[in-house]
Amino acid sequence: MLVSMRLSEKYDVPAELELLYDFVNSLDRRRYVENGVAHAGSDEIDTPRRLEAWMRERGLLQRGGHVDAGDHRAALELRQALRDFLLNPPEDRPQAREAARHLTAASRKFPLMLAVADKGAVELVPVPGSNALGRVLGQMIGLAEMGRLARLKTCASDECHWIFFDRSKPANRHWCSSSICGNRQKTRAYRVRQRRAS
Ligand SMILES: [Zn+2]
Repeated sequence: MLVSMRLSEKYDVPAELELLYDFVNSLDRRRYVENGVAHAGSDEIDTPRRLEAWMRERGLLQRGGHVDAGDHRAALELRQALRDFLLNPPEDRPQAREAARHLTAASRKFPLMLAVADKGAVELVPVPGSNALGRVLGQMIGLAEMGRLARLKTCASDECHWIFFDRSKPANRHWCSSSICGNRQKTRAYRVRQRRAS
């Protein structure tokens, strides 16, 4: 069986957020042309069966475990709430009350509990019997604890909205790719300025 490369591997995202990264970007709305080929958007988890496969591939489903319509709906709600929250630039997030409320509400179906490993390391894991997608939220909390959640951003290009991890030292990037999204935006701004000038 051909196993496709995970997004977090392709884009070299730190391991502590790969699940969160793959989950929020399972909806790909990017529209661009690369080497003459148009990139069409997609949704990796658009049906309960595809979500099941996605979770199984990441060890989030026990043997014989299934995803029903209710689980699927909750997962899509959680993804949308996460994307809506991350759509706000980091500096605006403290004021993004509505997005914060939605995310809080969507997370209710994914309860977490403390787990202490043999060597004393602690982490938040899904409560037994609950949806293992809660691990996505565990990673988000971990990221916030490390002070790195502000590095997880939505690309400022309307034709993209890819969620990227800003590894730049000053953490001031606006675009997932300066060569594609940054250039497109700069060219557009330049044209607007030219039109105004003439
Ligand atoms: Zn982009």
